Amino acid sequence: MNDRTYDVAVVGAGVFGSWTPYQLQRSGKRVLLIDAHGPGNSRSSSGDESRIIRMGYAADEIYTRSAQRSLRLWQKFAAQVNESLFHQTGVLWLAHEDDPYPVKSAESLEKIGIPFEKLTTAEVHQRFPQIGLEGISWALLEPESGALVARRAVQAVTLAAIRAGVEYLQDAVEPPDGNGSLNEITTASGRRISAGNYVFACGAWLPKIFPDLLADRIHPTRQEVFYFGAPAGGRLFTSPELPIWIDFKDEAYGFPDLEGRGIKIAIDRHGIEFDPDTGDRVVTSEGLAEVRRCLARRLPELKDAPVTESRVCQYENTSNGDFLIDLHPQFGNVWLVGGGSGHGFKHGPVVGEYVAARIDGNKEGIEPRFSLASKASEHRRAVF
Ligand SMILES: Cc1cc2nc3c(=O)[nH]c(=O)nc-3n(C[C@H](O)[C@H](O)[C@H](O)COP(=O)(O)OP(=O)(O)OC[C@H]3O[C@@H](n4cnc5c(N)ncnc54)[C@H](O)[C@@H]3O)c2cc1C
Repeated sequence: MNDRTYDVAVVGAGVFGSWTPYQLQRSGKRVLLIDAHGPGNSRSSSGDESRIIRMGYAADEIYTRSAQRSLRLWQKFAAQVNESLFHQTGVLWLAHEDDPYPVKSAESLEKIGIPFEKLTTAEVHQRFPQIGLEGISWALLEPESGALVARRAVQAVTLAAIRAGVEYLQDAVEPPDGNGSLNEITTASGRRISAGNYVFACGAWLPKIFPDLLADRIHPTRQEVFYFGAPAGGRLFTSPELPIWIDFKDEAYGFPDLEGRGIKIAIDRHGIEFDPDTGDRVVTSEGLAEVRRCLARRLPELKDAPVTESRVCQYENTSNGDFLIDLHPQFGNVWLVGGGSGHGFKHGPVVGEYVAARIDGNKEGIEPRFSLASKASEHRRAVF
């Protein structure tokens, strides 16, 4: 059976693969979106409750500008579908004396014209007395940034794309064969689908689908995330009393209690290698102990708070953290879209626009940092 022919078939309905069809259908294309487990499923990197959208990227202005535009597009989209998908919690960078990252971020925000405040520790203490400031010498507050409700947002974008005419199929696409121009893809249930272009936005599965090309270029790592319960009744650990905070130097970040899910804390250091299909998604006691130490340091009142939820997710890291958005070198009509590298979620709307422009043949604004050629096999994280 050869199913209908499409202009574009997009494989993977995470944040990159949901925004891509949403942007593509706007130019009247016939688009099919396929996901093995469903948009925002538990194994996808986009499947958690929340993701930070912040503007600070040190000197990496391309990501600051992309985050700025993406925030506008997320807000516009949320208003269009009449859903609350963004919490403007503010994002507070806790800066150590010798940490250049917040310093450079402030310079970029100033240059681009994004609002921010520099706070002394006394000012932080006055505004956010629940935050522990051990080792911190100043802070940078992005008042307009905040949290996207990740899984729900991906599902909302997919639904909006479907309502606008995109077809959706739940099935697993087999790794494609051959070279030249790809004629069709096949699925686990035996469907054959042909399209003019194919987009593989398969997150941590990309190296499994294209092992020869990507096994050395995308490294999925295991990341643990914890949610803690605050004392009943108080508002000290909800937004706006508590902003999202990032302790870049100590590789930790946390969210206020959003939508009653608990106070989220995680470590932003690459974990061990991880298989997104079969990897163990039960958190470890070592992971909990590290996060609890961090809780005691940054939110001391919660040092003995109970864990209310936990998750194991995966980053899909490129060698340095730049995204991968490029044609497959063997196929003239297969696009590889991924490498979110622990910071990709916020950029979904701009990634969707970028991919749609490439498929439309637009040569303007091609970003060399997204090219396959720029992806080394040696791992040296440079974008955070
Ligand atoms: C713990 C953690 C914290 C993070 N924090 C942030 C943050 O605060 N801010 C931020 O901006 N980013 C953050 N990120 C990064 C961000 O979540 C990811 O970069 C982003 O979600 C990646 O989206 P994706 O669409 O590329 O992949 P995914 O969301 O993984 O989607 C890939 C999809 O492809 C499907 N698929 C795979 N293979 C097949 C196949 N053969 N056939 C059909 N479908 C297939 C899967 O089912 C899945 O739904 C974080 C990531 C993690 C893990």
